[in-house]
Amino acid sequence: MPRTIPGLHHVTAISGPPQANVDFYTGTLRQRLVKKTVNFDDPGTYHLYYGDEAGSPGTILTFFPFADAGPGRAGPGMASAYAYAVPKDGFYGWMERLAERAIDFDGPTERFGSRVITLRDPDGAPVELIETDRDSADPLDGFHSVTLWERDLAPTARLLTEVFGYAEAGHETVEGVERLRLAAPGTARGAVIDLMRSDAPSIGRQGAGTIHHVAFRAETDEVQREWQDRLAQVGHPTTPVIDRQYFNAIYFREPGGVLFEIATDPPGFAVDEDAAHLGEALKLPARYEPHRARIEQVLPPLKVPA
Ligand code: ZN
Repeated sequence: MPRTIPGLHHVTAISGPPQANVDFYTGTLRQRLVKKTVNFDDPGTYHLYYGDEAGSPGTILTFFPFADAGPGRAGPGMASAYAYAVPKDGFYGWMERLAERAIDFDGPTERFGSRVITLRDPDGAPVELIETDRDSADPLDGFHSVTLWERDLAPTARLLTEVFGYAEAGHETVEGVERLRLAAPGTARGAVIDLMRSDAPSIGRQGAGTIHHVAFRAETDEVQREWQDRLAQVGHPTTPVIDRQYFNAIYFREPGGVLFEIATDPPGFAVDEDAAHLGEALKLPARYEPHRARIEQVLPPLKVPA
């Protein structure tokens, strides 16, 4: 059997000022801040990671918060939304919670037979909550899916089916928006990718409220090396392996233009702090430790709601 991708590892997006981002994802959406570190390419800005209690693959949403980021907008060639899986019987509770907090949302609408509501984070990023029959003690069971906005669905669909091992799981057109659903085999979190094509002309622009890249899982470093070889063979050479401290990463652009990453499950977020205290202290990779005082001076203070 050829290897298959089990699902999403993480999604990385761009935000404006970090405090509003922390308040929304930990407060409103009840995610845990599992890592507070810096952008490894720009240590004067944060890199914030949210996830379930352990920061499990398939639950992780990360942000580069730029205090002065201009607003972006999604368009063809970009990932345009991320969707969380609402566990069985939890959908109504989420609508109530949002209403109580005076947080506006669209819907519920129906997508492939499941109810969906869409809210906006403080930077306008569309966050979808999709009703599922998954059993979970968590308020949200990690990602359900990501939507990729494409000019042409076929080339990306081919990559996902012929190389990653996904299968077509639905195809519908609602109000001029065509959506092709692809699902990884198995029941991992974030096993679904929706490819979307819209009749509405649009030009995307990276900025606050947009998704920077979508990362898929490799179970081990060895599996990641196999993906690197396989992708090179099929005309999608990747970057070399880059050490991201909590996982190793390779990147390439899928045919429609979205930046894809393949990230390893190990070592995970407990590699540099106690699992019980994830996200509480500012963590720096070894090469930035000598500059900690300066970095802490530049970063705005952050308060995580209890
Ligand atoms: Zn990434």
